Amino acid sequence: MAKYEPVIGLEVHVQLLTATKAFCGCANQFGSLPNTNICPVCLGLPGALPVLNAKAIEFATLAALALNCTVNERSIFARKNYFYPDLPKGYQISQFDKPLAEHGWIEVPTADGGTKRIGITRLHMEEDAGKSLHEGFADSATRTYLDLNRCGTPLIEIVSEPDIRTPDEAFEYLTRLKEILLYTGVSDCNMEEGSLRCDANVSVRPRGQEKFGTKAEVKNVNSFRFIRAALEYEIERQIEVIESGGRVVQETRLWNANEGRTYSMRSKEQAHDYRYFPEPDLPPLIVSADFLAETKKNLPELPEARRARMITEYDLTAQDAQTLTASREFADRFEAAARTAKNPRRVANVLLSEVGGRLKALGLEQEQSPVSMRGIVLAADLLDEGKISSKQMKQLFDIAFEKGEDFGVVYEREKPRQITDASAIEKLIDEVIAANPKQVEQYRAGKKTVAGFFVGQVMRASKGQANPALLNELVVKKLEG
Ligand code: ADP
Ligand code: ZN
Ligand code: MG
Repeated sequence: MAKYEPVIGLEVHVQLLTATKAFCGCANQFGSLPNTNICPVCLGLPGALPVLNAKAIEFATLAALALNCTVNERSIFARKNYFYPDLPKGYQISQFDKPLAEHGWIEVPTADGGTKRIGITRLHMEEDAGKSLHEGFADSATRTYLDLNRCGTPLIEIVSEPDIRTPDEAFEYLTRLKEILLYTGVSDCNMEEGSLRCDANVSVRPRGQEKFGTKAEVKNVNSFRFIRAALEYEIERQIEVIESGGRVVQETRLWNANEGRTYSMRSKEQAHDYRYFPEPDLPPLIVSADFLAETKKNLPELPEARRARMITEYDLTAQDAQTLTASREFADRFEAAARTAKNPRRVANVLLSEVGGRLKALGLEQEQSPVSMRGIVLAADLLDEGKISSKQMKQLFDIAFEKGEDFGVVYEREKPRQITDASAIEKLIDEVIAANPKQVEQYRAGKKTVAGFFVGQVMRASKGQANPALLNELVVKKLEG
């Protein structure tokens, strides 16, 4: 047992997928030409007044509900003042002591196979700042360029309780959080484009001590992959400081992905004093009971609940349920297809074992599969109706993946020969029965499962071409007879 225990709390900023910005009608769009989606409001020109985007309230409330938060009926916007070139207003509109929502939680899996609740302290609304471009121009050595398109983009900030104890738990928390937000559709959570950003607060304390240690806040961790690395580095660094007789100082540190380490950015003494005060240009935000009830109706089935249901409905393992629900869009497509099939469980099975297995072997993503959902349903139905054997199905899938064709195309062309002539199948059964007197004895002594042995043997003798339904029926008839 390690001598020190890490304590971690995460602050996550998420851009909302509204058509327009938080307080003006400018397009909320990534990748536009610099400084084209701007107006007097988001530039903070004198006299311009903010008007809160109703869609942003709806999305923030939806996210809050999905994260098990209590939504406050009345919340207050506040000005967070700081001077920075990419913030032309000189302040960010945020929420401070009266946030939109509080007291939520996310359930994460733990190393021992159980689950653990990570508390969410608060979820509040705010706006983003612009972007400083320090690179990419001929005179970048001496100049910084500004793109203010992102000014006023609606964000939610989700602050966790200091409940996280390991870098793995932090990774799981972020993974679950992202998954839930993607399911609600409030954000695309694209980390490369900055739609999801995470600051990690971390401290260490001697194991068994109740009081938290002094934390450092690590910024600039812009990929899930780096969260673990940044936290591991920072935990080690703090332990070394303490072990060598020093004290961890409260500070903000920057993660440098190239070097795999963190650097001090500013200490507590240099910390910003944001001089928060209530935003005079916006009234309190009132979330009525009616609005809350309406928003609740838009809450989709969330990943955890969906997995639990699908495990029962399609007879899946937890791992398979995870695979099928990795994205809501994929889970939707799967379920829509499965419902059209004779046996939805079979569709799950064919998808996971035949298609999933081959994709994995080829290192392909689901979207790159040559076989469509419709093709998978066709295969499942043919198998179910006994029109193809499972061996034939495997061969057809082999061809589909070899040639990059859909299952239906391959089936139509290669329609496997099937022996549906009862007398031909009976002849094969007679041969197998004659060759296996011991198994016949067992069957007649009451061990009915032996029928499967005969079915398998005859199927092999027919080179996989015997009609499975007919074969089953005839085997039993012969053995009983
Ligand atoms: P600050 O006032 O410095 O912003 P907050 O109390 O608002 O600190 O907490 C910010 C984040 O830091 C939260 O996610 C919280 O859970 C986490 N946090 C607070 N104290 C600690 C600590 N001692 N160690 C690790 N994380 C902490
Ligand atoms: Zn604007
Ligand atoms: Mg804080």
